[in-house]
Amino acid sequence: MRLLLIGAPGSGKGTQAERLAERFNITHISSGDLLRQHVRDQTSIGQTIKAYVDAGDLVPDSVVLDMLRKPVVAAAESGGYVLDGFPRTVDQAKAAFEVAHSLGVEVQAAVHLDVPDEELIRRLLARGRGSDDSAEVIAHRLQVYREKTIPLLEYYASREWMFAVDGTRPPGQVHEDIVTRLRKLAAFDIPD
Ligand code: ADP
Repeated sequence: MRLLLIGAPGSGKGTQAERLAERFNITHISSGDLLRQHVRDQTSIGQTIKAYVDAGDLVPDSVVLDMLRKPVVAAAESGGYVLDGFPRTVDQAKAAFEVAHSLGVEVQAAVHLDVPDEELIRRLLARGRGSDDSAEVIAHRLQVYREKTIPLLEYYASREWMFAVDGTRPPGQVHEDIVTRLRKLAAFDIPD
């Protein structure tokens, strides 16, 4: 099973990705977690991207694509993946499609976790993850989301494998809603 989770910062992508990974025995791949790990480990990628992550800006496409290629292909070969945080732009989606298509590991479903701004801000301030969770940086990340990722949702909107769920409800309900919707897609055979 190969899934994408798309949502604003604070929409619950990480939580839902973990639950889906566990339920369907697939690999959870979070671009944000991998990037933060590079920063912590002070790798050369980490040094290149730290300023972007801290400012709430997207890191360059080439960095993210190079970083994800191997883990995504490996996950696809061992049961599948749920990608959390990638793609985040139309350009990333197009580039990822080229790679995935040539390897036969294209995405089978994309889930939009829909949460209104007021709720996102409330959650992000409460979470206080680190240098990219200050009020100012949060506002900037939401603006980047609107500018760069909403167009991605529009780009995917006509695909039959794309659907939105209401992300304001408790995590368990959101999860069940996602599974119900996945069940309706022909690509999967999910038992009741
Ligand atoms: P959130 O969705 O809560 O902002 P993430 O953990 O997904 O958190 O991402 C944190 C940061 O990592 C982003 O603000 C951005 O700097 C960087 N990042 C993550 N994924 C991508 C991506 N696909 N393209 C560019 N930058 C990314």
